Amino acid sequence: MPPRYDVPNSAPEPLRRVQLFVNSTDVHNRVEWLPEWLEAHDLVGADDRARELREAIRALVLANNGLPLDPGALETLNGALARVRPVLDAERRLRFSASGDALDEIVVVVLGAILDGSFERLKACRNCAWSFYDYSRNRSATWCSMRICGNRTKTRAYRRRRRAASP
Ligand SMILES: [Zn+2]
Repeated sequence: MPPRYDVPNSAPEPLRRVQLFVNSTDVHNRVEWLPEWLEAHDLVGADDRARELREAIRALVLANNGLPLDPGALETLNGALARVRPVLDAERRLRFSASGDALDEIVVVVLGAILDGSFERLKACRNCAWSFYDYSRNRSATWCSMRICGNRTKTRAYRRRRRAASP
């Protein structure tokens, strides 16, 4: 398991599954756990599709953190949507269903979270792209961890200010 899993705020289930999928790589430290994720989900060999979907979802959760959404990511996600279908349940609520594999199920969870509004709280850190769940009251969290990324950024800003101030 990726060592950083416990650093960020964990999303509630089922969104946690999406978070773990997005965090199947540590972009900042260039560590890749996708092969393990694929093996655990019976998807060995689906590397390209999985990576493309993962990075498209990362683009979405970065957009949840105020970054512009990459049009290519949107295209990938709309392509993935073709593999899921809407179903009506006994309470006459619209849900999404996937008869495919674990990647389709990830897309179903994303859709459900978009519909119930919880998706906005799943973000990716502006510094290291690690996904975290924003539990703050006003949804203002920007960093995966204040200790890891927030302070680092603050320190940089402080050094910049000091350099600017020195003659
Ligand atoms: Zn971070």
